[in-house]
Amino acid sequence: IIKFDSVGKRFGAITVLDDLDFEVANGEKVTIIGPSGSGKSTILRILMTLETISDGVVYVAGEPLWHERRGDALVPASEAHLREMRRHLGMVFQSFNLFPHMSVLRNLTEAPVRVLGLSKSEARDRARELLDMVGLADQAEKFPHQLSGGQQQRVAIARALAMRPRIMLFDEPTSALDPELVGEVQAVIRRLAEEHDLTMLLVTHEMRFAREISDRVCFIDGGRIREQGPPEELFTDPKEERTRDFLQAVL
Ligand code: ATP
Ligand code: MG
Repeated sequence: IIKFDSVGKRFGAITVLDDLDFEVANGEKVTIIGPSGSGKSTILRILMTLETISDGVVYVAGEPLWHERRGDALVPASEAHLREMRRHLGMVFQSFNLFPHMSVLRNLTEAPVRVLGLSKSEARDRARELLDMVGLADQAEKFPHQLSGGQQQRVAIARALAMRPRIMLFDEPTSALDPELVGEVQAVIRRLAEEHDLTMLLVTHEMRFAREISDRVCFIDGGRIREQGPPEELFTDPKEERTRDFLQAVL
C-alpha cells in the first residue's frame, strides 16, 4: 500500500534519503528504527506530503503520491491530487498538535465535517466512539490544556482516526511523555495494531514496544534501509554490523 521507488531526498547539499526502496503491504505493521538524523521522520513527512522528494516515485494505494499520471508519463502532482492522496493517511506526531482553542470533541469533528462532509451529528457520534476507544469518553468537553500529555496524545490518535485513514503514521508518539504516561498511549497503539485492515508505520526508540507490535522492523542508516525483518530476527540475530552496533547502543 506504500512504495518508495528509488526515492532521493536532499536538503541543499545534505542527502537524507539515498535511492531508497521501501514497501509496506496493506494491513502490515512496520517499525522504522535508526540513528538520529537517519531520515526516519523525513519518510513519514514525505508520506504526509509535508516534505517533497528530490528523486524517484512514492506510491500510496497504487497511485503516485508526488506525481500524477498523464498518459504513460508522470508529471508533478497538483495541489488537488495531493489533497486527495492525503486522505489515505493519518499522522500522530511527537508533540500532540491539538487545536488549543477547541474542545476535545471539536478537535475530532472539525475535519470530518469540513473535509469529509459528514453531518455534525454523524461526526459527533463517530468522535464519541473513538474517544471511548482511547479511554477518554468522559473528557469530550475539556480543552487540550486541561488534559495530561498522555490524554492529549490519545486525543491526537483519535483525531487522526476520525478521518478514517487506511494508513496511520506515528513519529515517536511517546517520546515527549513523562515515563508514567507512556504505557497508556502504547496500549492504545497496541490495540490499533490488532486491527487487520489498518496499515501502520511507526518510528520509535522503544525497542520493546517495536518488538511487540510490528510484523517487520526496518533499520535505516545513511538514507537507506540497511536491514529489515521480523522483530524476533532483527533484534536477536542482526546480520549487519551496523545494525548490531546500533542495537548494542540502544538496548
Ligand atoms: P531523529 O531520530 O533525531 O528524529 P530522524 O531519523 O527522524 O532523526 P530526520 O528528521 O528525518 O531524522 O532528518 C534527517 C536529516 O535531514 C537530518 O540531518 C536533519 O538535520 C535534516 N533535515 C530535516 N529537515 C530539514 C529541513 N527542513 N532543512 C534542512 N535539513 C533538514
Ligand atoms: Mg525524527
